[in-house]
Order: sequence, then C-alpha cells, then structure tokens
Amino acid sequence: MYALETRKRAPKLVSQGRSLNSVSREMGISRHAIRTWLTRIQPIPRSPACVRCTPIPRAPHDAAAYSYLFGLYLGDGHVMSKPRQHHLTITCADAWPGLIDEAEAAMRRVLPSASVSRSQKQGCTDVKSFSVHWKCLVPQHGPGKKHDRRIHPETWQRAIMDAHPWEFIRGLVHSDGCRIINWTTRVVAGKRKRYEYPRYFFTNKSADIRRLYSETLDRVGVEWKATRRGSETYNISVAKRASVSLMDQHIGPKY
Ligand SMILES: [Zn+2]
Repeated sequence: MYALETRKRAPKLVSQGRSLNSVSREMGISRHAIRTWLTRIQPIPRSPACVRCTPIPRAPHDAAAYSYLFGLYLGDGHVMSKPRQHHLTITCADAWPGLIDEAEAAMRRVLPSASVSRSQKQGCTDVKSFSVHWKCLVPQHGPGKKHDRRIHPETWQRAIMDAHPWEFIRGLVHSDGCRIINWTTRVVAGKRKRYEYPRYFFTNKSADIRRLYSETLDRVGVEWKATRRGSETYNISVAKRASVSLMDQHIGPKY
C-alpha cells in the first residue's frame, strides 16, 4: 500500500508533463500503479465555466450589476488577458470610497467565482477581479487605449443596456463623470441671493463611448449637449433643470 500523498503526487507530476518512466523511477512506484491512479483522478477545471463560454452562451445572471460594471469599465476599466494574467481592473479615485465599494460589489455580483483584491496607488485604488472569463464578459478588451479602437457592444450587451439604462449611465458617470455646482447671485427685491445650478459632466476621449452615453440619455429622456474643450468635443453636459433632476433621482453626487 502506498501512502495517500504518494498516490496523489505521482499522477500529478505526470499530468504536469513528466514522463511515466521518470516519475516511476524517482518515486520507486510501478508504472502500472501510476497509470491506475491517473485514470482515477478527475480532471479539475481551471475555473468554473462562465455564461459566455458554454455551448449556448447566456447573459450574466445579474444584468443590473453588469450594466453598471460595463459603464465603469468603459470609463476607468481595463481587462488584462495574457497567459497567467487575467483580470478586470477598475481604477477608482480615493476621494469616493463608496464608489470603490460599489465597483467591488458589482464585480462580485457579475462573476461570483472570481477573487477580488484592491491595490493602493497614488490617489486611487485599483479594484481587481481575477478570472480568465473577464475577456468573455467584456469582449471590447484589447491592446492599447479604448479611444483608439472601436467600442461596439454586442447584441447581448445592448439588450442589458436597454433593460437597465440607468445602471449603465451610473457606471459611466461614476467613472468618467461628475456632478458639479455652478452658482451665481442675483438681486431679488433689494436682496442679493445665491442661486445654485447643479449639472452633470461626462468626459471621455472615445467618440464611441460618448455616443453610448448620449444615446442612453436619450432613451431615458435626459437632454444633453456636447461641449468643446479646445478643438475637441470631449464633454457631454446635462444642465437643464428637469434633466438634472432626473439624473439626481437616479445618480446623485459621488460619495
Ligand atoms: Zn468564459
């Protein structure tokens, strides 16, 4: 009888690429015994199958969380997919700790099997979720910057964005957007009064991403305007009172 450890170790070495002969010699076990153990061990899948990898691909279970996370990805996200390095990273400003928690929660809801960690950088925190499947869930990943490549959602992603437009807008605003307050004073009945005008800005270099944002605003009835910065139109502003009020109901200030 061989010890349990031996019975596990020998087939493991072979499955890692060692020859039957060399393992047999090194451990003093017959090749027949190793072959028997090999047939008994079940191949262990590297990671659980994802909804996109299965023969009939599906959308993620938590569509609302996906819609939000996809918005975050388009703003401040990055998918790394190299041998032995697979992760989704969302870079969050330290100024908004609540949003760091939200990013992490959305990752966990979309892909519960993946481990998540945070790493502190200068003024910001990278929230990372490790799984080979982020490249299936975010097919827009690719080398270089997002504004240098086409960003077109696939049909299943469109369906999610259509079903959860506010979540998608929230994700974009929470990454590349902000809510600012302009103010002015006016004299009313002899008294100087201060008036505040909140507005939402969204800034992204990718024309595709700006279009996704403005199209989704159209769908929920929010009026917007493209505003210039230098010669380029990078900003989308929401300033009309009714539209700002709609945005406040669904998004509000960063926190
Ligand atoms: Zn997958």
